[in-house]
Amino acid sequence: MEKVIGIDLGTTNSCVAIVEGDTPTVIPNRGGYKTTPSMVAVTETGKRLVGHIAKRQAITNAENTVFAVKRLIGRKWNSPPVMAAKESAPYRVIEGPHDDVRIELRSKLYSVPEISAMILQEMKIIAEDYLGEPVEKAVITVPAYFNDNQRQATRDAGAISGLDVIRIINEPTAAALAYGFGKKIDRLVAVYDLGGGTFDISILEIGANEVFKVISTAGDTFLGGEDFDTRVMDWLVQGFMDEHGVDLRQDRMALQRLKDAAEKAKMELSSQATSEINLPFIISAGQNEALHLQRTLRRETLEALCEDLVGRTVDICQATMKEAGLKKSDIEDVILVGGMTRMPLVQKSVAGFFDREPCKGVHPDEVVALGAAIQASALLDESSEMLLLDVTPHTLGIMIVGGYFEELIPQNSTVPTARSKIFTTVRDNQTAVKILVMQGESTRAEENELLGEFILTGLRKAPKGQLEVEVTFEINADGIVSVSAKDLETGIKQSITVTASSGLTQEEIDKMAEESKDYMVDRRFSEEFESARQDAEKIIRELERLYDDVERMVKGSDFGQDALLKARDIIERAKAAIDEKDLEQVKQAIETLKRTQKMFKGVLART
Ligand code: AMP
Repeated sequence: MEKVIGIDLGTTNSCVAIVEGDTPTVIPNRGGYKTTPSMVAVTETGKRLVGHIAKRQAITNAENTVFAVKRLIGRKWNSPPVMAAKESAPYRVIEGPHDDVRIELRSKLYSVPEISAMILQEMKIIAEDYLGEPVEKAVITVPAYFNDNQRQATRDAGAISGLDVIRIINEPTAAALAYGFGKKIDRLVAVYDLGGGTFDISILEIGANEVFKVISTAGDTFLGGEDFDTRVMDWLVQGFMDEHGVDLRQDRMALQRLKDAAEKAKMELSSQATSEINLPFIISAGQNEALHLQRTLRRETLEALCEDLVGRTVDICQATMKEAGLKKSDIEDVILVGGMTRMPLVQKSVAGFFDREPCKGVHPDEVVALGAAIQASALLDESSEMLLLDVTPHTLGIMIVGGYFEELIPQNSTVPTARSKIFTTVRDNQTAVKILVMQGESTRAEENELLGEFILTGLRKAPKGQLEVEVTFEINADGIVSVSAKDLETGIKQSITVTASSGLTQEEIDKMAEESKDYMVDRRFSEEFESARQDAEKIIRELERLYDDVERMVKGSDFGQDALLKARDIIERAKAAIDEKDLEQVKQAIETLKRTQKMFKGVLART
């Protein structure tokens, strides 16, 4: 059967899983780790690094190392998260041509979906290495709170990476799937997901008949572990300022080291009461004077620094429960997802709010990818009865006269869904209607996210208020929106799939996908070449080591001298093939080298 993978494309880490037989399994990367840092870097020589190797060199190559790019995906240039990243990220965040965001690495500009695609491609490679065959299809997860632009941009990233994204599903839904898989339970559960960059809370009904229905979902796409790190960093910077009068923020390298140290301390404090932060030579102050940073962070201090962040997540939980008309006692289990839920304060606050200890059976870093893999395999398996009923996290509507927002599909409606509403013209003989499609909760249109716009033209002339236009919104199972508008009398109809206005054009996506394919071919070639080179060089080294002994053995024999000359020639030709990077020649050379190696060993065995 065709293999489909599930990918949790995280802010901080990504994870890939597959269902083998009936068992969902996380696929480890080459280093044996089950998660891979969502980091991309370009080195001085132009080499692309993804994952752990990108993370390892982040301090010395801070300007060309991208992390937390998920915070920027599908965002418009002027949005607060982009402005915040522009100010604080060590990499350069630049305005793109479609009111979007580009990132500059070694003088080349990359769109955000392109960077995400590099991470997806890495996950694809991890799966292919493990399975020993190409993987073309994937289910990718996104935070439930992602709007249409963010979903579209994630889809674009999939297309650029060379993956056919058969479904986008929400992270909490994926977590509930992994939790309920094969259990045959009827249960109302809350999924509390606090990751590196985002927070989501979802309430789901799990049915014994394999129906997973989302009752309500809410969250904040700009609240996560990175904010906790920032609090610790601010505390360190302020302390350093008080002690030495030096502002560490002025130094990018110091900042990157601080960030790493802050995260490390935060993580340590999940299992220890104190953490030592030690950063020798953090900055130089004047001539020959290096300053060191050394502080002890206590768990209570960390908790005090981050209390309000955790409080914000609890407020969101409260709001979503209220909106769903649920009491805390209705919730039968709480599933924790995301690395940040390892923090004791988070666990304590969640347990306190829901009045119950969270479920211990799921692994917060792996559960989302496992759920994606379960959904992936169910989509391919025609006999599967599993049904996911997700909801739209935001209200969808259009802008109407006066700048107001008219709702068409309310928040938390089950998807897929379609709704229509009839609007009338506002001017006499109006022949065109401009429709602005928006997503958000404000009654003022301008405060909501603009998803796209289109103009319905060729309307027949009629007095104002007399011409009726039916506007239909549709949201598919991926949560992606399409809109159509119809003149009810003439039947003239126009529709669009709302393509993210902050995203990329189809041409750009195709071009990037082409480049990414070339990269993949190059990379596979270099890996294969590298492995062949190592094999060949190993035999060459052995032959050279044995050469003198063999020469002594065959002294006086013409036949032996001849064989030695041939061996020399074979070695030289193998070296030349390596220098020329000719993979086929190197592969052939390995065969002849092996024969020579056998011959050498045969000669020496005769002693
Ligand atoms: P995720 O996006 O789910 O991979 O979560 C990553 C976030 O979890 C990052 O901000 C990490 O610093 C944080 N994290 C990972 N492990 C721990 C831990 N043991 N204690 C506290 N935070 C953690």
